[in-house]
Amino acid sequence: MVSQVVAAATLVDAHALVKRFGGIHAVDDISLTIQPGELVGLIGPNGSGKTTLINLMSGALVPDGGTISVGGVVMNGKAAHVFAGHGVARTFQIPRLFRRMTVLENLLAPALTRKPAHGHGTIALRAAEVLTFLRLSHLAHGEARALSGGQQKLLELGRAMMLEPRVLLLDEPFAGVHPKLLGDLVERIAELSRRGYTIVLVDHNLDAVRGVVRRLVVMARGRQIADGVPDEVLRNPDVIDAYTGA
Ligand code: ADP
Ligand code: MG
Repeated sequence: MVSQVVAAATLVDAHALVKRFGGIHAVDDISLTIQPGELVGLIGPNGSGKTTLINLMSGALVPDGGTISVGGVVMNGKAAHVFAGHGVARTFQIPRLFRRMTVLENLLAPALTRKPAHGHGTIALRAAEVLTFLRLSHLAHGEARALSGGQQKLLELGRAMMLEPRVLLLDEPFAGVHPKLLGDLVERIAELSRRGYTIVLVDHNLDAVRGVVRRLVVMARGRQIADGVPDEVLRNPDVIDAYTGA
């Protein structure tokens, strides 16, 4: 029997990316490709360059070297909203919500800034779906600032989902989340992955991501020190060193 190999088109292609802040090599020659449908964990001790890499992959920062391509299009120097237009959605380590707007308005706002592909009625419908998915429907008309830390993280995830992204970059979605809610959030992200979303999940905590991802990329001091299946990566002496040395 001949097995059929279907080459998936690479969704995100980061090649030899470099970002310096003064003398600090925050991202130092990182190459990374993300295929459609992947759920990749990006881990590393604090200060290892994870957020900087997410910023380079989403247009929040312009690389000093290397190339960043999305769906085969070189995006170097393009603004964040152009990355968003190409299907790159990201969340922030510290949620950036409209605190005095309602949960529902927070969901509608990013979608309404784009030309609606299927009309505004569809956006409202989508917002209702997203709220149901995140189990936040009962809070739709409450102010965002009244949400718990974990609920704010869910709402940020919902805002990114509203853009119907080709790839979701989640920067420390578990930070500041009450341990009781952590399992729910992990489960929601796993469900998004099962539904076909392409996700890069950033965390400094090995344990939070290892159970949910099939691929782990590890950074330390701006460099990529491992990329592979979680069990192998977590046995890698360089990874153990990076974590015990941190
Ligand atoms: P991580 O997200 O893995 O904790 P960061 O990407 O935030 O790491 O930071 C990587 C390194 O770059 C750190 O040394 C940090 O202090 C530095 N850094 C990040 N952003 C800036 C900035 N805007 N200005 C100066 N230094 C920065
Ligand atoms: Mg960070």
